[in-house]
This record gives sequence, C-alpha cells and structure tokens, in this order.
Amino acid sequence: MKLVFASNNKNKIKEIKNQLPDTIEILSLEDIGCNIDIPETADTIEGNAKLKADFIKRHYGYDCFADDSGLEVDALDGAPGVYSARYAGEEKSDDANINKLLDTLKEEKNRKANFKTVICLNLHTETHFFTGIIDGQILKECQGTEGFGYDPIFVADGMDRSFAEINTDAKNAISHRGKAVRQLVDFLLEG
Ligand code: IMP
Repeated sequence: MKLVFASNNKNKIKEIKNQLPDTIEILSLEDIGCNIDIPETADTIEGNAKLKADFIKRHYGYDCFADDSGLEVDALDGAPGVYSARYAGEEKSDDANINKLLDTLKEEKNRKANFKTVICLNLHTETHFFTGIIDGQILKECQGTEGFGYDPIFVADGMDRSFAEINTDAKNAISHRGKAVRQLVDFLLEG
C-alpha cells in the first residue's frame, strides 16, 4: 500500500515510518513532486487536517493522510487552537507566541490547557479521523530548551517538567501527536 503523508516535516515522517511495516510505503509531499504550500484556511483543527488530505487526494489521486495540531487554553475558550502557529502574527515565531500567551494569561488563575492533534485519513472512498489530546497547565514562565512551539510553557498533568524539559521519546509516549499517530497506525495494521 502506498500512502502519502501531506507533510515535509522529516521528524514526523520518520516517526510514522518507524511504526509501520514495509508493506505500507509512506510518501512525503516531496516524494510526489508537490511543492505547493497547501493553504490552511479552515477555522478548526479537524478542518485543516481534512483540507490538506482532500487536496492531495483531489490533485494527485493518492490515498493519504494529513495532520494538524494546536494548543487550546480553557481560559481563552480554546484559543489559540487552530491559529496556534500564527497567534502573535504571520511570521509564526515561537518566542512571540509564547510571550503573547504569557502576557494574556498574566492575571489568570485558571491555567488549564490541552494540546490536540487531528489526523485525517483518506483511504479508498472513506475518510477517517484520529484525535489525540493531552491535558495540562500553562506555566507562568518558560522552563527548558528542548522541543518547539509552546513546549517550554506546557506541563502535562501528572508531570513536574515541561515538554521542553523531556526528550522526544518521553514526549511522544504521552503527547497529543503520539496518541493520534498510534491510533492511525493501529487502524492501518488492522486493515
Ligand atoms: P502543527 O499543525 O503540528 O504544525 O502545529 C501547529 C502549531 O501548534 C505549532 O506551530 C505550535 O505552535 C503548536 N504546537 C503543535 N504541537 C505542538 C507541540 O507538540 N508542542 C508545542 N507546540 C505545538
């Protein structure tokens, strides 16, 4: 089976390839000659994942899947959510995003938040969604230097270190993305 992952993120592609048997061949956007930046114009995380998966199916005809993620903060009614990457502006700066969020929550006692990943799979004529969520808290200042995005200010429930203070394997074992990927892999292996 050939399956396109609508991404050029080498880490994500490697992580998924490592979990699948050789009978399921994963192709990146680069592998199929797609160098278009697929527009992410939906207003939900699910919507953006579907938009990317549908784009590939429609224009290239491949079975495929796409992912989209975001940070949902309870006190902000789920913001920045689908807009997490460009919360502080189109330049998509992790530092600016973190500073804006810390500033917005300066006086806020409710620090509850969650990361969410949705994977949309277009297989044959069917569409399937896989959702991974990790609950936690937003810190008052940055801790740690690993990872990316909001990792330095997010502590998962039951942990005493931020996502930027644990290594990739430890993060994948509990993270939103890890959970969604495992559901996708289990589904593909069953089929
Ligand atoms: P993407 O859909 O995986 O590219 O995620 C969109 C945005 O959500 C990223 O640019 C980050 O700002 C944020 N985000 C998603 N997952 C994570 C994570 O695991 N750690 C920190 N930030 C994340």
